[in-house]
Amino acid sequence: MNHTEIEYTKDIKSLTLSELKIEMELMGEKAFRAKQMYEWMHKKLAADYEEMTNIPAALADKCRKQYTYTVLKTVRVQESQMDGTRKYLFELADGNTVESVLMRYKHGNSVCISSQVGCRMGCRFCASTLDGLERNLLPSEMLDQIYAITRHTGERVSNVVVMGSGEPMDNYDHLLRFIELLTDENGLNISQRNVTVSTCGIVPKMRQLADRKLQITLALSLHAATDEKRRMLMPVADSYSLHELMEVCSYYFEQTGRRITFEYSLVKDVNDTDEDARKLTELIGHLNCHVNLIPVNPVKERDYVQSERHAVEAFKNKLEKNGINVTIRREMGRDIDGACGQLRRRYMKQ
Ligand code: SAH
Repeated sequence: MNHTEIEYTKDIKSLTLSELKIEMELMGEKAFRAKQMYEWMHKKLAADYEEMTNIPAALADKCRKQYTYTVLKTVRVQESQMDGTRKYLFELADGNTVESVLMRYKHGNSVCISSQVGCRMGCRFCASTLDGLERNLLPSEMLDQIYAITRHTGERVSNVVVMGSGEPMDNYDHLLRFIELLTDENGLNISQRNVTVSTCGIVPKMRQLADRKLQITLALSLHAATDEKRRMLMPVADSYSLHELMEVCSYYFEQTGRRITFEYSLVKDVNDTDEDARKLTELIGHLNCHVNLIPVNPVKERDYVQSERHAVEAFKNKLEKNGINVTIRREMGRDIDGACGQLRRRYMKQ
């Protein structure tokens, strides 16, 4: 872990409105300044204090001395010629880069954000983890990805998925604070129901999240229906069994009433056979859930091959026949390094 990592309490955009009120009082400022500044940061998406026209210069100066004010530099924007999906590469204050993706649907704009720089989970098919974990993102740095894209497009973001690089449950405290700020009525006020968090399956954190009783969607990256096969694809499966995972998924549903999404990336001849579909039905058939099938995105450094179209269809049909809710994820932005971590890797190499 990077020792220069900033404390979120010194990061003004990671503070809640009530925390900011206390800070203002400690500085001898009027409490209403907190609300004004909070709205500049989280509603009007100000890139710096200069944009905050009703904030006195003396207060802005004090804040500059006392806190960091994170902003992202847009390094690159790639737009898919196929579906208008845009991939953004952003540079953080310390020079690290992260990727975010904007997907445009009929029902609104959806942004997929990263939660860490790199990742230490080691999933074999994933590009984000190839160089390990660099550092956690601050709550503000997760928000900034959405803010920068909103500023860039001038369009409201209605859905947020924490499905980019990084493992959100490995950055749990910052994740929860990020959700609190994102869904705050004094900020972008995005509904909890429009937020999805995807995890490779860190059971104790999933349980903790369930106890918070948020209305967000929890997505579990399953990718295999037996422990043996899952261990081949995902090292995290050495720590938590499918039995424990299914238990915590039931618990999440009990606590929140939200059905679980299972992500299942289909890899040719690895997890896409009839037998795999049958085992998957046995595993999850009793749960209130939804399955998202994703034809694996080939990553140059890995030798996994995407399942054939007919195998994907057959897999879907088999699950549906057993009464399971399934969608095949539209592959958006394939022409622009769609798979997690690929754009950043290519950029770093140059
Ligand atoms: N760490 C979290 C979120 C980031 S990955 C998690 O594991 O869920 C988002 C999703 O994309 C996960 O389901 C992940 O397994 C999947 N994924 C990663 N690389 C992929 C690839 N090359 N092809 C298809 N899916 C991939």
